Amino acid sequence: MTAAEPIEWDGVLDLAYTLANAGEYTGAAAVLGASLSVLDPATTRPDENVIAAAVLFVRVVDPTMDLVPDEVAWARYAHQAAHTLHGPDGLTTIEATEALALALASHDRFAEAEQLRRDLIRLHLDRGDIDAHLLARMDLAQQWHDAGRCGDAIREATAAWQQWIMHHEPTDGHSFAIAMHLFWMLLACNRVDEAQAIAVAADLQAPEPGDATYDVLCALLASLVAGMQYHEPVCARLLDRTAGLRTARDTAVTRRLVRDQRGEAGEPWPR
Ligand SMILES: [Zn+2]
Repeated sequence: MTAAEPIEWDGVLDLAYTLANAGEYTGAAAVLGASLSVLDPATTRPDENVIAAAVLFVRVVDPTMDLVPDEVAWARYAHQAAHTLHGPDGLTTIEATEALALALASHDRFAEAEQLRRDLIRLHLDRGDIDAHLLARMDLAQQWHDAGRCGDAIREATAAWQQWIMHHEPTDGHSFAIAMHLFWMLLACNRVDEAQAIAVAADLQAPEPGDATYDVLCALLASLVAGMQYHEPVCARLLDRTAGLRTARDTAVTRRLVRDQRGEAGEPWPR
């Protein structure tokens, strides 16, 4: 199926990136969804603009809504099309693989998502990109944490952090995101002392009004605080203490948590 009118992808993508960078995820998803919905992910030929639109769509869309178009189908398209155009280790392929893992995990298809994340972890290691390898391990740990596998998640995240600080100063700006990730997981599981130790090691401090990163950090902190609330019903540690009182996992909560993790990096969406 083809669109009756050619899609002006430059304009669509410029507008969508502008909205996403302003935090207007619903608006960005609407702009991208309107263009993608006139195409069929099963028959669309590999195309750089459509790949970019599909990857951004997956990252901004709310997975709790029944959507037309379907973000998992478009993530699969982007993954396959990027593989065709750029090979298995192209940057676009890696971004599309991350997007597909995110789409699958946000629909509770954790096993498929985990396999993709393991492929990325191995790929980065084979390429000798240790930073990307460790960040991919944090992503897998985050997925486990979202699903209530708190012990596995924190063991993996801690191991990744310990390897990270063999290559980077823990207080270095590059270390902030990975430290914050581990800090949040510990705090969400009520492991306050361990969280505090990471905060001290990485010199995590509340931003001051007027700091260059103040707005970004406030948005990140708001997202983390909200995420803690959504982790509570799935937290293995809290479940141990209240056995029988909670359901093991609430899929709506899990999806909401995954959605709220989007944008946690507080960085512009790359083009
Ligand atoms: Zn937990």
